[in-house]
Amino acid sequence: MDRNPEDIIDKKLSHIIYADNAATTKTSEAVVNAMLPYMTGIYGNPSSLHTAGQYAKEALEDARRRMAKALGGEPRGVYFTSGGSEADNQALMTCAAIGEKKGKKHIISTAFEHHAVLHALKKLEKQGFEITLLPVHENGIVVPDEVAAAIREDTVCVSVMYANNEIGTVQPIAEIGRICREKGVIFHTDAVQAVGHIDVNIERDNIDMLSLSAHKFHGPKGVGALYCKKGIPVYTLIEGGAQERGKRAGTENVAGIVGMATALEISLENLKEKGERLTAMRNELIDGLLKIPHSRLNGDREKRLPGNINMCFEGIEGESLLLYLDDKGICASSGSACTSGSLDPSHVLLAIGLIHDIAHGSLRISLCEENTEEEIKYMIKAVCEVVEHIRSMSPVWHDLQEGRRQYVIQ
Ligand SMILES: *Cc1c(COP(=O)(O)O)cnc(C)c1O
Repeated sequence: MDRNPEDIIDKKLSHIIYADNAATTKTSEAVVNAMLPYMTGIYGNPSSLHTAGQYAKEALEDARRRMAKALGGEPRGVYFTSGGSEADNQALMTCAAIGEKKGKKHIISTAFEHHAVLHALKKLEKQGFEITLLPVHENGIVVPDEVAAAIREDTVCVSVMYANNEIGTVQPIAEIGRICREKGVIFHTDAVQAVGHIDVNIERDNIDMLSLSAHKFHGPKGVGALYCKKGIPVYTLIEGGAQERGKRAGTENVAGIVGMATALEISLENLKEKGERLTAMRNELIDGLLKIPHSRLNGDREKRLPGNINMCFEGIEGESLLLYLDDKGICASSGSACTSGSLDPSHVLLAIGLIHDIAHGSLRISLCEENTEEEIKYMIKAVCEVVEHIRSMSPVWHDLQEGRRQYVIQ
């Protein structure tokens, strides 16, 4: 097989339909162009006192101001990280350190968080923290009253994701934030899927801590940020030099950080119009796929990210569906990139009440502004054909049709 990237792009990737934007996005050309000078020309270390370093430092601090402005926060609250996973870990370890100090060892989160949050919470559980995971119900939405009811005297923080990465459901974040503020509990949100896609505002949404990642909004991979409100002592995950005001050691990824700030600004231009266009394409795709007998949409139809489609088809195994679609030039996903490859059904789909058999057969299509009307039509046709083909060969499907087995999806 070809291993020359240019050849791979030419021969293998130039004709694909990329519909896996929740896993990662293409770094836009404008972003790459904004990054280049900081790799080839202004390549000094921002901690250096000489001219080369100081220009890099200037770019870094400019990016910090631009990020803060775009998020409705203050520049000093922005801590650059290696991505969303690191930001999530740093946020939760910050909560844990505060809880430890105050003797408050209860943390509230939800059953369908990203593994960066869930696995960090597992670690804290082993260290003596008590974790409450709230249900997300059939529609994939957290109920604010249930957050309020779960808060106790010894609760140190609440962590609820802004939008889910598999089913795209958008949470009532401002309301949950308000409840936390009233009760004096720290509120963290994993906003990795939301930032750059829907209107997120730290001040308006009553957010204390927020995680984001550049590669989910057409920025580069391996760079992200944790936002932390003034007065919260940030826990240092990575010890070393005094970068990021002593809270995150390591020479800053200057080009990546400049790229992230640029990507965020670009993604927020005409956010509403872009969202409306994507929502229309998304709805067309959902309606087209719901015409397949015994299919269902996972997650609330309205309160979801503009580009997210997540469906299940009775009698279909997710992995084979993906492989057939890949053959037809469509890059989609069965859920999160992190769990694909493992045979466990998605914890998100189980959290919204699907049984194992059905949860195994999910398809996530996540669109971006570059997807076209023709691609939507092609994808509807392709999924319909593939589902029909797989079903025609499936003994389970024949049993269902002949009444030897009951349909789960009506
Ligand atoms: C992608 C993602 C992450 C992880 O971000 P990385 O930058 O890949 O580490 C965390 N949370 C959510 C909701 C995500 O979608």
